[in-house]
Amino acid sequence: MSRFTEFNFSGHKALVRVDFNVPIKEGKITDDTRMKAALPTIHKILSDGGSVILMSHLGRPKGTVDAKYSLEQIVPHLKELLKGVTVYFSADCVGTLAEERAESLNSGEVLLLENLRFHAEEEKGDPTFAGQLSRLGDVYVNDAFGTAHRAHASTAIIASDFPVGKKMFGLLMEAEVSNAERVLHAAEKPFTAILGGAKVSDKIEIIENLLNKADNIIVGGGMTYTFLRSQGKNTGNSLCEEDKLDLATDILNRAKEKHVAFLLAPDSVIADSFSNDAERNIVSNDEIPEGWMGLDIGPEAIQLFSDVIAGSKTILWNGPMGVFEMSNFREGTKAIALAVASATQQGAYSLVGGGDSVAAVNQFGLADKVSYVSTGGGALLEYFEGKTLPGIAAIQE
Ligand code: AMP
Repeated sequence: MSRFTEFNFSGHKALVRVDFNVPIKEGKITDDTRMKAALPTIHKILSDGGSVILMSHLGRPKGTVDAKYSLEQIVPHLKELLKGVTVYFSADCVGTLAEERAESLNSGEVLLLENLRFHAEEEKGDPTFAGQLSRLGDVYVNDAFGTAHRAHASTAIIASDFPVGKKMFGLLMEAEVSNAERVLHAAEKPFTAILGGAKVSDKIEIIENLLNKADNIIVGGGMTYTFLRSQGKNTGNSLCEEDKLDLATDILNRAKEKHVAFLLAPDSVIADSFSNDAERNIVSNDEIPEGWMGLDIGPEAIQLFSDVIAGSKTILWNGPMGVFEMSNFREGTKAIALAVASATQQGAYSLVGGGDSVAAVNQFGLADKVSYVSTGGGALLEYFEGKTLPGIAAIQE
């Protein structure tokens, strides 16, 4: 049992760091996934007889008050999600107003604090500011995996104001941490990492760390062409990071030394311009003609990758196999999503995380066919890069 589920919140005021950094267009929340993800934690505290003080950031107001980033906008939706629960709002996250509102909060009630990032001290990790926040509650719960890689006042520094036993992960954070740990530290073999997306430069550290963990590393997406180019292949107008060619060669050599199967797509769907209406063709990756660019993996690559995925017991997937936002270059990503779903059905454990691959499994309606879909973008990547995440360390120490 976890510290959170064991804890009886009756009579306690829980200060809960959530990630309510939701996309808002013209005053309307366009995706409330992050709010919904925090509900189980909130409900557990309330049903125990505790009260909840929610703190979050929204956007990047950079230490100034800006109505565009006010969390007051989300209060009506929060009330809807928490049907019947009394929800108050404090127009400042610290100071007299916040303290009065927190003080008069009754069990079963919720208080949402204004955007933490209206104070520059939040991102600076200022201990005095963290101290002002910590005064509002008597238990600290961190349920914001999306910001776990930041040593901000509310995500990490504040934890030192609470004794062991009075600081803990919420249910979302617990799930994120245990799923990520399962892949990184207890992966059943064969372990296959599927890495896609645009650039090698964004994924260097994760590839380097996974070279020590994975049996197979499948590389798709725009990254492919930098690796191919480093091997002297013609990649036409495909995405290529000229300054990363030596690094790409070095990664391929290290994979060989470590006996990690490093799989690059053998063929591509190519296009004569970066457009869904472009002329298309399927070619071997040995020779992409001048003026053409690879925008998706080809049928041979789909077959090869799907076979490796089918034989895996643990699968980590980050990043699309092609420009899946365009319908004509979506097939590779869709096929890989289906392969991961089918391996999962056969008993493999699969974790999908990091931005666009999550968007992809959602788009294909396969989110409930994989073992776990992470809510953390940057935080998850840093975790798989092998870094210590301050938000996790602050609770675990
Ligand atoms: P990332 O944020 O690094 O995971 O990259 C995701 C982006 O990579 C998506 O917007 C894809 O459209 C893009 N992408 C994937 N494959 C390619 C490719 N072959 N050429 C250009 N962009 C790509």
